[in-house]
Amino acid sequence: MIRTGIGYDSHRFAPPGPLVLGGVTIESDVRLAGHSDGDAVAHAVTDAILGAAALGDIGRLFPDTDPANENRDSIGMLRVAVARVHAAGWRVQQIDVVVVTEYPRLQPHRDAMRACLAEALEVRPEDVSLKGKSNEGMGWIGRGEGLACLATATLVRAE
Ligand code: MG
Repeated sequence: MIRTGIGYDSHRFAPPGPLVLGGVTIESDVRLAGHSDGDAVAHAVTDAILGAAALGDIGRLFPDTDPANENRDSIGMLRVAVARVHAAGWRVQQIDVVVVTEYPRLQPHRDAMRACLAEALEVRPEDVSLKGKSNEGMGWIGRGEGLACLATATLVRAE
């Protein structure tokens, strides 16, 4: 038994830095604005695994009306989602992530992000794919107003 899920998230850039993406803190003049730490990669991955298990979404699990979720560590939220997925009888097999942005460059941080996500997902780093794509200067992403992230997840039935 195999299930797939998809997740999407976007956040606006706002001063001050640093920026947290894929659980990695990147030196920057801006951060990703949001109720939590704004980690759009962690949020999209969380939605992808919850979606694959048909367990709702990150907004239902962690409502932004709850003060406890303010400035919350998004990798911690991902871990909670992974525990829900495990409790439902699934385990994560692999994820694939695309970050659509003009900034920052992902390449220097890619392996650290893969390792961090893999640890939270309880998979190997080689089971985590992460790619950066520019938006060729078009639209709000092209103007550097923020970034968007897409993720897919594959779950398999736990033994
Ligand atoms: Mg988000």
